Amino acid sequence: MTDGTYGSATLAIAYHNFDRAAEQLGLDPSLAMVLRNIKRELIVHFPVEMDDGSHRVFTGFRVQHNLSRGPAKGGLRYHPAITLADARALAMFMTWKAAVVGLPFGGAKGGVIVDPKTLSVGERERLTRRLTTELSLLLGADRDIPAPDIGTGPQEMAWIMDTLSMHARHSVPASVTGKPIAIGGSEGRHAAVGRGITTVAVQALRDSGIDPTGATAAIQGFGQVGSTTAQLLAAAGVRIVSVSDSGGGVHSDAGLDVDALSSLKEEGGAFADYVGADALTNDELLTLPVDLLVPCALEAQITGANAARVSARVIAEGANAAVDPDGDAILGDRGVLIVPDILANAGGVAASYFEWVQDLQLFLWAPGEITARLRDVMVRSYEAVRARSHAEAVSMREAAYHIAVAKVAEATEVRGIYP
Ligand code: NAD
Repeated sequence: MTDGTYGSATLAIAYHNFDRAAEQLGLDPSLAMVLRNIKRELIVHFPVEMDDGSHRVFTGFRVQHNLSRGPAKGGLRYHPAITLADARALAMFMTWKAAVVGLPFGGAKGGVIVDPKTLSVGERERLTRRLTTELSLLLGADRDIPAPDIGTGPQEMAWIMDTLSMHARHSVPASVTGKPIAIGGSEGRHAAVGRGITTVAVQALRDSGIDPTGATAAIQGFGQVGSTTAQLLAAAGVRIVSVSDSGGGVHSDAGLDVDALSSLKEEGGAFADYVGADALTNDELLTLPVDLLVPCALEAQITGANAARVSARVIAEGANAAVDPDGDAILGDRGVLIVPDILANAGGVAASYFEWVQDLQLFLWAPGEITARLRDVMVRSYEAVRARSHAEAVSMREAAYHIAVAKVAEATEVRGIYP
């Protein structure tokens, strides 16, 4: 799949998936046009003082796709290659994701074009606070609630919350999710995406006639999502035979010690320092003969160029749009069960919803309650998508989009936005 038409392979994927759903649902063309378009976007160029006293101007943006079902919700990405078009696509995914798992949010996404690894802590703080002030036109607990994504984490969320609180002159913990627990973050948020992926991946293995205990898995990307998914899958009895990050990965048929790998990375080590496994490239990881493949890095990793070589029987899409439509078609023909991104990685927005609700009510839930509710959301949503996929003889991705787009269409229509 090329990115020629939209300037972003991810946006091309987002449009493809939506257009197919709109057509299959028989959506009125005018309503489809409303849902296909971005509601609002803000681009900001802002100066940041660097540690050496010089100034740099950074570009950031925030995109809100559709707010028919509630306030905007979505991550904030710091990455040198993020574009406005990517953010539009990722905001659309958030709209469908919240809808498919039944959360009262619209979709948003934001980003700054920067490699955060090149910034000191002080530079990251000044960048984040200035960005927050620039975007505060849009942000707020009842308007648009950011969360972590690639390159951001609890510390950035704490700075955003503090900056918005300074503007409001009182603490507004519900203005961001994925915060540190000390300022209203929720127990379980850090592992929530991985927990959700593990729940649906284990179910998908069973549905494919594979016993999860002893099943093999390869995981691309070892950040917040990939590392927690690896740990939780291993705890569920799955043998993790390969993991990777942007520098490549490791492979062992006997299985990897995921906790040892996590400690190694936390201490600043490289996979190459891990004893007892072979090195492999990301391309090699994607084509390993495993039962389960979980891409948790970037978009468009499995495409027409490599899908024919992918041997996994089940794919749980941790990263958004990890499989592009050409890859989808090739894998679908081969009967590979793909749990699509808008379902598989929805554990993050579900736990964010729980955090937001707790902060709005100033009433904290017990950790066990959060995990149980997350599991309930993921199992119910998976079963609904699976049932629709069977009933309509369509893929899990098509079924998830049918459910999500129909819900947003109904909300858009009933509010009278659509005449
Ligand atoms: P992260 O920054 O913590 O980790 C990203 C990982 O991917 C790192 O290990 C990095 O080295 C690796 N990586 C980058 N480029 C790679 C490449 N070309 N090949 C292999 N590995 C590569 O980010 P994260 O929060 O773990 O997010 C990962 C994915 O999950 C993203 O696509 C994100 O949009 C998606 N996601 C994240 C959340 C969340 O709450 N964090 C929620 C839903 C979806």
